[in-house]
Amino acid sequence: QAKVAGKNCYRFYSRAMDQAVERRVHLEHELRGAWDRGELSLVYQPLFRVSDHTLVGAEALLRWQHPDHGMIAPSVFIDVAEQSGLIEVLGPQVLRAACEDAMQWRGTRAEREPLFVSVNLSPRQLRGTDLPRLVAEVLRDTGLPAQQLHLELTETAVLSDESQASALLSELRATGVQVWLDDFGTGFSGLSHLRRVPIDGVKIDRSFVADILRDPDDLALTTAIIAMAHSLGIIVIAEGVEKDGQYGLLRERGCDLAQGYLLGHPLPMSEFMALL
Ligand code: C2E
Ligand code: MG
Ligand code: MG
Ligand code: MG
Repeated sequence: QAKVAGKNCYRFYSRAMDQAVERRVHLEHELRGAWDRGELSLVYQPLFRVSDHTLVGAEALLRWQHPDHGMIAPSVFIDVAEQSGLIEVLGPQVLRAACEDAMQWRGTRAEREPLFVSVNLSPRQLRGTDLPRLVAEVLRDTGLPAQQLHLELTETAVLSDESQASALLSELRATGVQVWLDDFGTGFSGLSHLRRVPIDGVKIDRSFVADILRDPDDLALTTAIIAMAHSLGIIVIAEGVEKDGQYGLLRERGCDLAQGYLLGHPLPMSEFMALL
């Protein structure tokens, strides 16, 4: 870039940065129309009650089938959506689609207990638009009972501004939906924060679950999270369960719900319906 052409190193870093920015802007531009072009879709990963291995719900996970680059992972584009503000359009679309899909599952359940759908929200969705109103509106429009919607928020999003988040979470829970803290254990918070934020569940991050068979510390931590959560009336969900041994240990320690490749991969709506 001309204005920083004084030193070679500046020019180098500047150019590399320009390229990164350019790629990002390009991705953002493409993402903007992706929903309307039908490139974005939700897949559903089954969640089981550990005690009796019953299917109780599913987590909605976003997928981007890009015409040139193939499948792009949410870890790549959620960030772009979040930082560009695009999430404020995308988030409500995801929420609505997930609730509509969950209504369709109901038709297949007959006498059995209805399944919940669990939807991820990004930090910006907490700060931005009027979330409780959106949730109430989507539930009303789709007809999904509030108990069948769970919202997953990351630990950092909630605990970075505890008092403001607490008020919002209370308002959300007043609509009847459940609120879960996602990726629990990866953030900066300790267990003590759990006592101050009004939530229904914590999802133990899969990095802990991955090692509970080998690393006594991770098992001890997982066991402590379960005990502490239960004493506060909070349920515990384990993610990333890949091995029988992990599932067995989690059952033994009283973990409430679990998901992972052992139990079921994320599936497109049609395949998830077939599974029901
Ligand atoms: P997350 O909410 O923690 O979702 C769990 C991730 O772990 C998913 O990755 C899932 O496919 C993966 N996973 C599930 N079971 C296993 C397992 O047994 N082993 C391993 N190694 N991985 C497993 P995915 O779908 O790539 O999503 C990544 C993250 O992107 C999610 O993490 C979530 O934070 C975010 N995300 C996904 N969909 C949405 C969305 O609609 N909105 C928002 N705001 N974020 C989303
Ligand atoms: Mg999640
Ligand atoms: Mg998670
Ligand atoms: Mg995770």
